[in-house]
Amino acid sequence: MAHDDKAPTRYVLAASAVVLLGALWFLTRPGPVAVAYLFMPVGGVAGTLSVVALLRGVALAPVARRFWRLVLAGLTGLTAGYAWLAVVAFGATDKLPDIPLPAALPAGLGLLVTMWAVMRVPLGVTGVQERRKQLVDRLIAFVGGGSVMWAFGLAPMLTSAAAWSTGALVLAGLCFALGLGAIVKVSYISGGPVDRVALRLIAGAGVVAAAVSILGVYGDDGVLLAQAFAMPSAFVFASAAARRQWKPIGAPPRRANVWLPYLSVLAIDASMLNVLRGDLSWPDRVVIVGVVVLTLLIALRQLVSMRENRRLAGEKRTTEDRLRHEVTHDGLTGLANRGLFRERLAAALAAGEATVLLVDLDDFKTVNDSLGHEVGDELLIAVADALRVAAAPHGLPARLGGDEFALLLTGEACDGEAMADRLLAALAEPLGAHRLLTHASVGIATATPGTGLDDLLRQADVAMYAAKQRGKANRVRYHDGMEQPVLAHARLGGELRRALDAGEFVVYYQPVCLLDGGAIVGVEALVRWQHPTRGLVPPGEFIPAAEATGLIVPLGRFVLREACRQGAEWLRRFGPDVLQKVGPNVSARQLHDPDFADDVRAALAETGLPADRLVLELTESAVLRGKQVSCTLHELHAMGVRLALDDFGTGESSLSLLRAFPASIIKLDKSFVDGIELDEPGTPAAQARQAVAHAVVQLAGALGLDTVAEGIECQEQADRLRRLGYTLGQGYHLARPMPAEQMTELLARRLHPVAA
Ligand code: C2E
Ligand code: CA
Ligand code: CA
Repeated sequence: MAHDDKAPTRYVLAASAVVLLGALWFLTRPGPVAVAYLFMPVGGVAGTLSVVALLRGVALAPVARRFWRLVLAGLTGLTAGYAWLAVVAFGATDKLPDIPLPAALPAGLGLLVTMWAVMRVPLGVTGVQERRKQLVDRLIAFVGGGSVMWAFGLAPMLTSAAAWSTGALVLAGLCFALGLGAIVKVSYISGGPVDRVALRLIAGAGVVAAAVSILGVYGDDGVLLAQAFAMPSAFVFASAAARRQWKPIGAPPRRANVWLPYLSVLAIDASMLNVLRGDLSWPDRVVIVGVVVLTLLIALRQLVSMRENRRLAGEKRTTEDRLRHEVTHDGLTGLANRGLFRERLAAALAAGEATVLLVDLDDFKTVNDSLGHEVGDELLIAVADALRVAAAPHGLPARLGGDEFALLLTGEACDGEAMADRLLAALAEPLGAHRLLTHASVGIATATPGTGLDDLLRQADVAMYAAKQRGKANRVRYHDGMEQPVLAHARLGGELRRALDAGEFVVYYQPVCLLDGGAIVGVEALVRWQHPTRGLVPPGEFIPAAEATGLIVPLGRFVLREACRQGAEWLRRFGPDVLQKVGPNVSARQLHDPDFADDVRAALAETGLPADRLVLELTESAVLRGKQVSCTLHELHAMGVRLALDDFGTGESSLSLLRAFPASIIKLDKSFVDGIELDEPGTPAAQARQAVAHAVVQLAGALGLDTVAEGIECQEQADRLRRLGYTLGQGYHLARPMPAEQMTELLARRLHPVAA
């Protein structure tokens, strides 16, 4: 029943129809005058039924239910009283009836109960300030409402020549007291279980029912107008009140009435103007008109400042809203900032379900450095837009700073992988006006019971790191224990940065020699970390971390530079025949750097090392990295720089690689050298190793490539390799990697390393 929206409206329409018919009757007067007395009871039935329906159909708070029950009792009393009066009216012959006590009593009691109900409703006001304000407002209401009632009701009634029945006087007295009380009561109510407007309408109903009986002062026409039209309208108010209450409980409290003081001014001015109707000297009239005009002007002034206040309050709210937005959002992209993101994440965690995606752009620094900050900003904005689209409608996208973004997923939108894929797909398209291409790494972490906010963010961060290590445009979900290696790398990464700035890296050199005779033909440059406390750290312990953190790029640049400088110095000092080649190692990450070829060119130009003396050692996996790397390699080749395929034989596509890749040298991996000296009978593994070593040297010969056998640890290995066709070798047996000074001494003495 509560869902039947038409039910409450029906009673309002019925009561309104009664009033309308009453007005029509009053204007046309068909039938006997007693008909005028029918409209009150009929309207009363409509009003009463509206409250019955409300009490049946809506779940009301206890206070509200008590109120409406009292109202029901009151309306029933009023209806019954006027029904009795109608009966009396039809009994009377040509004269209008006086109200007999059996009619006045239930009607008066009904009015009393209704007003009593209004008075009992709690105000919902707290605070001394507020209560004082209310007190003044009530006084205003009292004076305003009282003056009208006095001027148009009680005063003419008491001074009228017509004789009033006791019943009428009782009603009039009641209406004065109760009506005024009700006005004062409802004039300033801010909220509570009884609807504010409904309460006013009920008070209005009571006041109307009571006040308009005073129309009797204006003769028979006044009585008939009151009975047929004015008084029944009380039930329009009552049914409208019931309809008002017919809505969900718990609507927010509204702002208290601000118009009341002005209504009161109008009321008292009306009373004042009423005084003008009497016998007054014209100077007195001027005073009264002056008072009326003055009060109106003061009210007007008040109104103006009230509007001003409202405008200021509105502006204040707008400013506050803007400030709040600025504090919680990123200025560039308009996405939520770190603070807001954490706030929402905390709320989601409290609610129990949250997945976080951390999104980090892979090559943002390159864009920023090479194309400028404006283009960088444009890229960030485009990424933010892509994020917004992917996240809609359930996720919260945020920019945590720099090129780091995040997405918070809650509730049913918790499929992190699907979201990450959507995002990566969106980012794979060219972005913004510059059609920029970018990649992002995404880390995913979902809260389990008891996961803290910072834990979850850290997990997503760890996963994001792991995604980065896997290469571009990857997503990785966090799992337990994932942080160990990542954290170690991250910690080491920070330390490496410091070490690089502090100049703790040094380059060692290991000779590459003729297997026959041992003469030095070149050197491989191998980096070492001269750690302040740990001593000399071998590259195996920090190169992986340097690659993971990207620090390999500046580190490799340093080694390249240093090797070129040192090589050029040796050539200057000992003549062009001292070395054919200087070989630094180059990692995949360096080859990806679009500036790599330029770096090499600059290193050669600035150190004076001839390009053909530089050999870059690359692994297969580094070479097999797509178009851009391939371009770089061909560019280097064109410059005259030679390329060596390091660790040859350990990868899977070694042979096919040789066709596509402009290599000049193959370095046979140490694993094929190990145990190669072991003669028959020989294990199958040893035989296989020998077969590979043999095949490689033959293939290289056919393709016109040089070969270097790595990791030779004894003379037998050197001999066997020589017999297989190798001419060049490298290994502890020939010479260990050594600092530059030692290498300089070695070259200076031009001694064979073996003899040394
Ligand atoms: P790699 O390029 O294969 O370098 C050869 C490694 O084998 C060197 O180890 C060298 O000291 C070692 N070695 C040489 N002869 C023998 C031998 O007879 N027996 C044994 N057991 N080992 C021998 P190192 O210097 O520790 O370097 C390890 C790896 O670190 C290198 O392998 C290379 O991949 C990487 N690396 C070294 N320096 C750099 C660098 O500057 N940049 C990059 N990207 N990687 C580097
Ligand atoms: Ca190498
Ligand atoms: Ca190697």
